[in-house]
Amino acid sequence: MTNNLTQAPKLDSSLQRRLALEIQGATHFDPFSLGRYATDASVYQMMPLGVIVPQNLEDVRKSFAIARDAGVPVLPRGGGTSQCGQTVNNALVIDTSRHLNKLLELDVENRRCVVEPGIVLDHLNAALKPHGLWFPVDVSTSSRATIGGMTGNNSCGSRSIRYGTMRDNVEAIDALLADGTPLHFGPVAPDLATANKASPEHDLFRDLLALGAREAEEIRQRFPDVARRVGGYNIDALVPANGIPANGIPGNGAALNSETAGGNNLSHLLVGSEGTLAYSTRIELRLSPLPQTKVLGVCHFASFYEAMDATQHLVSLDPAFVELVDRTMIDLARDVAMYRPTIEGVVRGNPEALLLVEFAGDDQNENLRRLKELGERMGDLGFAWNKDGKHWGGVVEITNPSEQSALMEVRKAGLNIMMSMKSEGKPISFVEDCAVRLTDLAEYTARLTAIFDKHGTRGTWYAHASVGCLHVRPVLNLKLDEDLRKMRAIAEEAFNMVAEYKGSHSGEHGDGIVRSEHHERMFGTRMIRSFEEVKDRLDPEGLLNPGKIVRAPKMDERALLRFGADYKEADFRSLLDWSAYPGAAGGFQGAVEMCNNNGACRKLDAGVMCPSYRVTKDERDSVRGRANSLRLALSGQLGPDALTSDDMIETLKLCVACKGCKRECPTGVDMSKMKTEVLAARIGKQGLGLHDRLVAYLPRYASYASKAPWLPNLRDRIPGLAKVMEGVTGFSARRKLPKWRSDSFDERAAGMTGEAAPAPDKREVVLLADTFNRYFEPENLHAALAVLNAGGYKVLFAQAADSKRPLCCGRTFLSVGLIKEAEIEAERVIDALLPFVERGVPIVGLEPSCLLTLRDEYGALFPGDSTRQGQVAKIASQAVLLEEFLSREMEAGDLNLDLKPVAEKAFLHGHCHQKAFAALTPVQRVLGLIPDLEVETIESSCCGMAGAFGYGTETYDTSLQMAELSLLPKVREAAPDDLVIADGTSCRHQIADGSQRKAQHVAQILKSALR
Ligand SMILES: Cc1cc2nc3c(=O)[nH]c(=O)nc-3n(C[C@H](O)[C@H](O)[C@H](O)COP(=O)(O)OP(=O)(O)OC[C@H]3O[C@@H](n4cnc5c(N)ncnc54)[C@H](O)[C@@H]3O)c2cc1C
Ligand code: SF4
Ligand code: SF4
Repeated sequence: MTNNLTQAPKLDSSLQRRLALEIQGATHFDPFSLGRYATDASVYQMMPLGVIVPQNLEDVRKSFAIARDAGVPVLPRGGGTSQCGQTVNNALVIDTSRHLNKLLELDVENRRCVVEPGIVLDHLNAALKPHGLWFPVDVSTSSRATIGGMTGNNSCGSRSIRYGTMRDNVEAIDALLADGTPLHFGPVAPDLATANKASPEHDLFRDLLALGAREAEEIRQRFPDVARRVGGYNIDALVPANGIPANGIPGNGAALNSETAGGNNLSHLLVGSEGTLAYSTRIELRLSPLPQTKVLGVCHFASFYEAMDATQHLVSLDPAFVELVDRTMIDLARDVAMYRPTIEGVVRGNPEALLLVEFAGDDQNENLRRLKELGERMGDLGFAWNKDGKHWGGVVEITNPSEQSALMEVRKAGLNIMMSMKSEGKPISFVEDCAVRLTDLAEYTARLTAIFDKHGTRGTWYAHASVGCLHVRPVLNLKLDEDLRKMRAIAEEAFNMVAEYKGSHSGEHGDGIVRSEHHERMFGTRMIRSFEEVKDRLDPEGLLNPGKIVRAPKMDERALLRFGADYKEADFRSLLDWSAYPGAAGGFQGAVEMCNNNGACRKLDAGVMCPSYRVTKDERDSVRGRANSLRLALSGQLGPDALTSDDMIETLKLCVACKGCKRECPTGVDMSKMKTEVLAARIGKQGLGLHDRLVAYLPRYASYASKAPWLPNLRDRIPGLAKVMEGVTGFSARRKLPKWRSDSFDERAAGMTGEAAPAPDKREVVLLADTFNRYFEPENLHAALAVLNAGGYKVLFAQAADSKRPLCCGRTFLSVGLIKEAEIEAERVIDALLPFVERGVPIVGLEPSCLLTLRDEYGALFPGDSTRQGQVAKIASQAVLLEEFLSREMEAGDLNLDLKPVAEKAFLHGHCHQKAFAALTPVQRVLGLIPDLEVETIESSCCGMAGAFGYGTETYDTSLQMAELSLLPKVREAAPDDLVIADGTSCRHQIADGSQRKAQHVAQILKSALR
């Protein structure tokens, strides 16, 4: 087994050819693709032998048959978000998430459905919602976790105390055995009366049930008596049940499932088997009614120990969950502007721990009654607001649904903030889901904290108190042998302690590589032999995800770690400032390593990240796929010059630099900035093509083009010329280019003054005219000027010392990787703006991508130059979009705009960079000043135009597909009199091209509303 691509075994070329020929879906054998499937959300890395993206079930069957013929192992994969290394192997990876993702059957009356394994939980629940149903195993990765993967891991949601784990909610599984036999695993009668006696199914089921009968006593003795046990195989499901719960433990698969009904449900053996026993092709699920109402009680504690001790008493009130948020997380959230109001609105005093207790059901009065009971229970336990010391505490009641979700967002964000730690040491998941009985919880958490202390590390506690399964990740740097040794020592001490409590060392995330080695401690030798017997009975040749659950390698085998023994420091000189991160290439390598593969960038709804993945659903086009490729390239695992190779450019090609990931990736991976760095390196090797040159240098030739606009405009006037030029320029003939005009914006002609007046004047602003509005839509700048003048502001303009050509932010240069040219532009801008900024004059811009460059990229353009960095910081603090400025003035009570109604309804599309910098709220606030205007913000990702992206011959189709995801369909819903509003030049162009609707900048709308 190996983690290194160069040493990994390879499929011989004839086998690759056979797979490519016989499989209808995609097959990948190139190093970049293999590397992208070499990791899950664990600390491990194992290079696949090949990747199959089956188009249909037949492809899976063929892949199995071909792999079996060649003796090649197979690894099923869903979202690849596992934390224990169960979704990595030197095997043929079968990615079900892209095509095998349908809801096949839905029986609303009996609350059942059948799905393909690749369906994502959130997508399933969206389809169930109109029927008042949901699939209630609400894992935190619901936006990308697949039902196949959840079944494989026996996943558990935060509400498992009410709904159980996957095992409690899976009714049956149609599976493919390693030898290709398709089998239905479901409820069977104890005497197998319903199974065909002559079938292989009968023999297999008979043997399995015989094993269950034989081992019944051992299972009763050794299976931990806790609500969360997902380790090992569920051989307790094989114990002849005869109507008696197999192990009598509610929430562990027995209380809710059909084993209680007098038989055994053999599908439960496959649940939690991590792809090692069979491949699930169809999964039948039990559904639950969607609770209509909820309330939340926020229990405050002055002592962490007391909180843990109280949990057992709160759980008896039958809540849907009890979730822990500890002091560290509260403090972290308080430091984040967007979460501060929630914390301040809810949290009283300085608690050491909060327990969030949810009551949910259809009867809100009943929820409220139980909420009251919660307060009484806290009182009975001795907690009161007026007490001191460890008995200080009480309950804050939250009945408002939006406040409830805001608090749950903070609970989730706490983990994200923790994961965004930029040091070499990172919170590592390996003891993070041990489960103990609630009576032991307080002592267990205290003792584990002491173990961390002993090893010189620490962890933040959070999550599922109600089922005794708390998450905690000690901070370690696994590149260091010393920390790897600590990982083993902590794991062994922690797991020994869990065994002492008769708990489970695997309570939520599964076994994979990190846990399997430790099973003997929990289950004993005899049980391990039984697990092996089950494995050998179902997969005699050991071809299904070998080395997981049974016969596993050591958890700390360096050869299996993402940071293996030969993990190299990058031999690369970065141009941008990455100094906030550790590691080589000035921190660039550390920034790339921030991706921990949690897969949040595979979500398809809400937010912006990641528009290209949303269109292609190809792992290559996710932020994770890109970050993994960069990490492997920088550490030399993809061969020499991989960073600047064609494969890398292909990997980054569909990244539209929307900065969605910068804001939405839990660890803040900023792919837009990384792409600029890679493009710069590529230019260093291969120079710059004509297309990119035409894009980048637009600000430098724009003034000439505007003097004879008819000439460049010929391209779109002479029929056929765009087609002729397409091959040379790389601009798609299907796209019209922005029209050059002779009336470009001229500050002096518009009556603005360029003098930096010496006396401070509170009502002065600088209007920064960007290249796009200046040359293509000067009316927007005129409108902004009119609005600012109407508001009583004196509008100034800044000019470069050379005053040869207007200022430009340099964005076009950054977009192709010409970092040095961007620096030249930035220096002109900084020098021109500094005198204004130093006397407190705000800098106001219209085009989000240009103005926000001053707040974002400028900070990275001058590594090591503290003078420039200081100037940039000053400018960034004063550079605002028009709406941000007006909104700020409004809040200060200084805005005087007399506006009249202009329309009844407006559809607003936010530019990606506005969203990335939380600059859309001010737009909504300012539009709210217009009387009688109802504004609907379109829930859209990137419009797809993204600067020059939408014009490219190779990217035109993807560009339109991005727009068609939600933006254009919504715009088409607008009535003729409705306004369509978009601040981005590219967004307006895309809307016009895709829907023939004219979208307007907010400045225009405000101007038309001036009385
Ligand atoms: C930030 C974060 C939060 C998490 N929160 C939770 C949580 O709240 N609760 C929880 O339980 N887990 C959680 N997890 C772990 C993980 O997200 C879940 O286990 C999830 O259900 C895995 O789904 P997936 O589609 O990514 O599975 P994958 O990782 O792709 O696969 C999981 C296992 O199932 C097997 N498998 C996949 N498809 C098939 C198939 N068709 N047939 C047979 N075997 C198959 C795979 O081989 C693998 O062994 C979290 C992980 C992260 C990174
Ligand atoms: S890029 Fe960010 S969101 Fe995507 S997997 Fe990596 S860490 Fe998660
Ligand atoms: S910048 Fe946008 S397109 Fe590029 S990786 Fe990030 S989210 Fe995806």
